[in-house]
Amino acid sequence: MSNRYDHMQYRRSGRSGLKLPAISLGLWHNFGGINSFENARSMSRTAFDLGVTHFDLANNYGPPAGSAEENFGRILDHDLRAFRDELVISTKAGYHMWNGPYGDHGSRKYLLSSLDQSLKRMKLDYVDIFYHHRPDNETPLEETMTALDSTVRSGKALYVAISNYPAEKTAEAARILRELGTPCLIHQPSYSIFNRWIEKDLLATLETEGVGCIVFSPLAQGMLSDKYLGGVPADSRAGGPSGFLNANSITEEKLAKIRALNEIAQQRGQSLAQMALSWCLRHQGMTSVLIGASKPAQIADSVGCLSNLEFSAEELAAIDEIAPA
Ligand code: NDP
Repeated sequence: MSNRYDHMQYRRSGRSGLKLPAISLGLWHNFGGINSFENARSMSRTAFDLGVTHFDLANNYGPPAGSAEENFGRILDHDLRAFRDELVISTKAGYHMWNGPYGDHGSRKYLLSSLDQSLKRMKLDYVDIFYHHRPDNETPLEETMTALDSTVRSGKALYVAISNYPAEKTAEAARILRELGTPCLIHQPSYSIFNRWIEKDLLATLETEGVGCIVFSPLAQGMLSDKYLGGVPADSRAGGPSGFLNANSITEEKLAKIRALNEIAQQRGQSLAQMALSWCLRHQGMTSVLIGASKPAQIADSVGCLSNLEFSAEELAAIDEIAPA
């Protein structure tokens, strides 16, 4: 499609030269070996045609672990490899990936071998962004950050990043990386109307350090939509085998909040999913929201949030009342 860049917004990541789409697509769920490849392919094409240039992976996405990267390699072969220079592809290491002491956490040994494996699975020469997926209190931060720096020096990554780091450790990591000459591009924390921890101090730290912010699970894994208002659909994440969200997560208390939020969204002329994304994007320093999807139509719906990003003070206060910081 020739008009893919007409409607998407691109936002600069911190004080870097790289801009990311305001909406990025994550391949944590629904791109694994257990899922329909044709659906995964169709979601990727839909996203790219809507200007979603950033695809986020990790070594362990699947299931089985590694299969999302393998499938993404196949999707590149089928549809997207010709557009490699128009894509920002990220991967990560930090959670358990293989047995023994070298397939988990934050050692140089783990990070560098894991990135080599990821590149093979996706059949890429380099990724655009390589993340340390979670903090590891047992490995010296200098070792982990030096390993990230090495990935850029060896040409296997263009930028490096961190995920799930608390504010203080973020500042320290950013300082080390700056000293090494490879600035931290972006931080990937969780954030949504239901999960506002980054407002306490992480956002301010990122601003000070000049690091971008791309938030994961901005829809609280789908809870911030109208899909659970009439029960738990069989084709939803809570109704399926995900293990990260189940029917017990959809409590009456949550439903009451979802109903109230849905009313505000309707008054704004948005779906609740759209409002939840616009709400995350209201922060000055928010580079991108990292959505997941199970169907191509959800991606189009989510990207539709961009036509209403403004909130009145009354709307924000009403959301605070339902889901306080
Ligand atoms: P979301 O909160 O966006 O949840 C995605 C789910 O919400 C979809 O699978 C779908 O669920 C539902 N959904 C999506 N769009 C809509 C819509 N428009 N209307 C109704 N329902 C919708 O994010 P995820 O939890 O999937 O996480 C997104 C990405 O973030 C991951 O793929 C991954 O890249 C990253 N991530 C990073 C982590 C980290 O530690 N760094 C941890 C977790 C995620 P359904 O199946 O019910 O249709």
